[in-house]
Amino acid sequence: MKEYFDFLRRGKFRIPICNDCNTKIWPPSNTCKNCYSKKIRMSKLDPRGRLIEYSESFIDKNKNLGLVEISGIRIIGIINEGNMNHGSLVKLTRCGLDNNNSPYYEFSFA
Ligand SMILES: [Zn+2]
Repeated sequence: MKEYFDFLRRGKFRIPICNDCNTKIWPPSNTCKNCYSKKIRMSKLDPRGRLIEYSESFIDKNKNLGLVEISGIRIIGIINEGNMNHGSLVKLTRCGLDNNNSPYYEFSFA
């Protein structure tokens, strides 16, 4: 999904939404997984979400990884310092592509 990565490269989080049935297409794809339409728009989501799962990394102590749910989609990201609890409110503060062109997402506690 080229458009998704183009936005991400510029630090913007936009996800594909089907024009025909309004399904959020996640993971990003050029075809709606609900109705197979190819009419897709890129849409901004509310950056606030909830922490579902987390684990502390012992490789780099500033990097806690967490699974976050935002507007019904789930993303694994880096959770910046704060009170790690299941269900904590977090906010997507930064995203982009790293040196290997892999997406990264950073969350802070809201
Ligand atoms: Zn659809």
